Amino acid sequence: MHNHLLGECIKAKNVDEFSFDTIWKSKLTSDILEFKPDLIAVTCLFSMTYPSFKNVCHEIKKITPCWLDQGQTIPVAIGGVHVSQYTETVLNDLKDIEFAFLNEAEGALINFINAVNEGSAKNIAQTIFNTPTEKISFKKIAKPEASDLNIIPAYHLLDVSSYTKHGRVGSFTWTREPGTLFASVLSNRGCRAACTFCNVRDFNGLGVRQRTVESVIDEILILKEEYGISHITWLDDDLLFDEKRAISLYNEMVKKNLNITWDAMNGVIAASCRDEVIAAAAESGCLAVNIGVESGNAEIQKQIKKPGNSRRFLQAAEVFRKYSTINARLFLMLGFPGETHRMIADTITLSLEMDLDWHSISILQPWKTTPIYEAIGEQIEIEERQAKLEGRYSAGPFGQQRAVEYGEPLLVKNFRDRFTPENLDDVPTKDSLLDIWFYTNYYLNFHRLFFEKRRHKIQQQLLNLENICKVVASGNAFAIYFKALMQHRLNGKVDECVTQELECVFRTSNFWPGVFRGLGLSINDLKQNNFPNKYSAKSELGLGNLTPGWFRHK
Ligand code: SF4
Repeated sequence: MHNHLLGECIKAKNVDEFSFDTIWKSKLTSDILEFKPDLIAVTCLFSMTYPSFKNVCHEIKKITPCWLDQGQTIPVAIGGVHVSQYTETVLNDLKDIEFAFLNEAEGALINFINAVNEGSAKNIAQTIFNTPTEKISFKKIAKPEASDLNIIPAYHLLDVSSYTKHGRVGSFTWTREPGTLFASVLSNRGCRAACTFCNVRDFNGLGVRQRTVESVIDEILILKEEYGISHITWLDDDLLFDEKRAISLYNEMVKKNLNITWDAMNGVIAASCRDEVIAAAAESGCLAVNIGVESGNAEIQKQIKKPGNSRRFLQAAEVFRKYSTINARLFLMLGFPGETHRMIADTITLSLEMDLDWHSISILQPWKTTPIYEAIGEQIEIEERQAKLEGRYSAGPFGQQRAVEYGEPLLVKNFRDRFTPENLDDVPTKDSLLDIWFYTNYYLNFHRLFFEKRRHKIQQQLLNLENICKVVASGNAFAIYFKALMQHRLNGKVDECVTQELECVFRTSNFWPGVFRGLGLSINDLKQNNFPNKYSAKSELGLGNLTPGWFRHK
């Protein structure tokens, strides 16, 4: 449906030709009337798509199916991560939906269909019947075994090559030239770890189930030869779980001369990022990885059961710095229960010492069914917090930026005011956490570019910043300013259109000019093609005494 909508959006000559609701509703209705299904299954992967998911379910129920008895509607089954986590709330909200399938449900769905056809409820598993009077729950488990995972998706049912033509697959499309066709592949399910904020273990169960290397290679070959795919986004939560298998998969990709590139968007576990693994990954076409770090403080790492510690993270960083073709990024998180300013400073210090390419920083969003949800205290507080922050999260880290730009005032003018000797052992308030997020994002991602001298990395960062300006957060003045800086470093000059882009933001924003003044940035740097490196990171942060390690590597 997304793909169809995006295709129609691209085809439309102007806004008036694109009617979102008319397009999806008519496509949904016409496909259903043509196919005449006995059952429709709708998935809600993440909470941010719940409103759309609800609309689709309601729309299906409005269709009059001529192949069923008069007055009947088409039975609807729902599933996915959001449905599995918030089952009761969802079923109370969608009273006319007949069935819910929980967790990994491909086996459960087949069992259900067989049960209906055979008239026996014996093998029904992970299913809830949502009747008007009660919810009947079948708790039996029908989780797919590792061998079931070798089934290659029925790609002939949907042209995957059109995904990249209409939109983007994953977050690393900028690493390849425009027109490159991307697809996602899953080679493992589950994760060896049990981070307390993560719902992977809850959804996928204990441990990791692996596909065979042959099956994964066969799938990539189909994608490449039949659909022209030349970049894979791994969907794995623990891609490097079995280091030997990972190396053999990457070697096989080279041996088969697949000539594709790939990224690990969901994050890899630092403990497995050994030299031999990352060398094989780089050779097989790895262009980008996210590394799950979350915190640089030992107490928090222990509290959240992070697989790894700062020593491991630094070792992994050392490996990635050797393979500069890989854009290596950190997942960081702020706002853990009891996390003080000092602990946050440890996270910033560790990130600076790791000295990798980018940092995706989020503020903890406690999911129901995760252990941290329990630990954080009063449910009401969580709900208030979620309600307040939902908009920000839904747009990813830059959603928080938007919240700041459009109405959430920064509470302090200077980052150092957030970290005073008096407050180091205090837990930041919710509001000051947003300030800390804002400045941390600026210093770790943008400000460090003042010190980037490696040509290859400057080229990488330029592509990344162009992508932020064009796709992720258009009008983000930091991204525009530092895009100009990267152009200046590479070509000795700034494109006129980039200066105009920043001028345009300044003309229309009440927010950015003040932030630029506060941080010592100026639009004149672009106009005069002169970016004086006068902003010593250490003095600007004012945290030298607090964390002596900050910017030490610079
Ligand atoms: S390592 Fe990643 S996927 Fe695994 S439990 Fe932790 S956060 Fe979840």
